[in-house]
Amino acid sequence: MILVSACLLGETVRYDGQRLKTLPSFPEAWRSGDRMIPFCPEIAGGLSVPRLPAELTGCCGPDVILGRGEVRNTSGEDVTAAFLAGARAAVAAARHHGAVMAILKERSPSCGSRFIYDGRFTGTLRRGQGVTAALLVHHGIAVFCENRIENACRFLDRTAGQSMGSPL
Ligand code: SF4
Repeated sequence: MILVSACLLGETVRYDGQRLKTLPSFPEAWRSGDRMIPFCPEIAGGLSVPRLPAELTGCCGPDVILGRGEVRNTSGEDVTAAFLAGARAAVAAARHHGAVMAILKERSPSCGSRFIYDGRFTGTLRRGQGVTAALLVHHGIAVFCENRIENACRFLDRTAGQSMGSPL
């Protein structure tokens, strides 16, 4: 099973209530096999649609998990607790469904796995993980963004080979 950012599956869970204009092409086997679990950590953490945009304040997901960083929205409100609650719920959902991997939306303060915004609300990216991506990785769940689905497929093939005792 694969945990997937709900917005990547067309759900209107984004901060602005809008559906993503472009949705990724997921492998047919994932769709037909009902292998994708849609999940939005920000909704699971208690935030609503719409909501104010939020960014990590010059830190990365692991800093927030360790209590060394915050997430604030454009009014300056500290929404760290909701982001942490959503991240914990994502780990619980992955475990519940036996997911070994997640495909998460890049650049999101929750779901970003390689890039997030830098906390100044200027559209400037920095390298780093969002809060949910960081906590999933910490718990041994592989995370890929929507632009790396081929890498994710190779990871799943390797994982399947190992669980079957393949020499690969
Ligand atoms: S938190 Fe993740 S799933 Fe929810 S809208 Fe943002 S990117 Fe999509």
